[in-house]
Amino acid sequence: MGCIFCKIVAGEIPAVKLLDDDKVLAFMDINPACRGHILVVPKNHAENIFEISEADLSAVTGAVKRCAVAVKNALGAEGVTVLQLNGTASDQVVPHLHVHIMPRWKDDGLTVSRWEMKTGDVEELQEIARKVKEHL
Ligand code: AMP
Ligand code: ZN
Repeated sequence: MGCIFCKIVAGEIPAVKLLDDDKVLAFMDINPACRGHILVVPKNHAENIFEISEADLSAVTGAVKRCAVAVKNALGAEGVTVLQLNGTASDQVVPHLHVHIMPRWKDDGLTVSRWEMKTGDVEELQEIARKVKEHL
């Protein structure tokens, strides 16, 4: 397979690794959006949140928590953004599930968590919630 993160997991291409256990690998993002930008991936290939098993996702989540706390303490960050994209429509580029951990500082200029807020239409919110609940 040509998956770049599977190649990192297999040790076929280098990465600056942080955490390596039986289910999960955490390493530094090669093109950091900010100082201390970390990626956490499952060792079993899964393209996105729709495909990954709950056990693997749970392991990823545990590692995200550990890395977020560690990088916050290590770099004296004031906050941490946790971001995970699914599908090209959501701007996912590497098709192997990964969680971004981005240390944040007040007024650091990172725009990743800034979007235009518009007041919601309550009837539309209720209609969407009704439809989603049918699938839960
Ligand atoms: P995205 O798929 O948009 O959520 O982001 C993919 C991320 O993977 C980007 O932040 C890249 O900088 C990062 N990335 C791509 N290749 C590597 C690599 N070989 N080692 C570490 N990070 C990588
Ligand atoms: Zn993969």
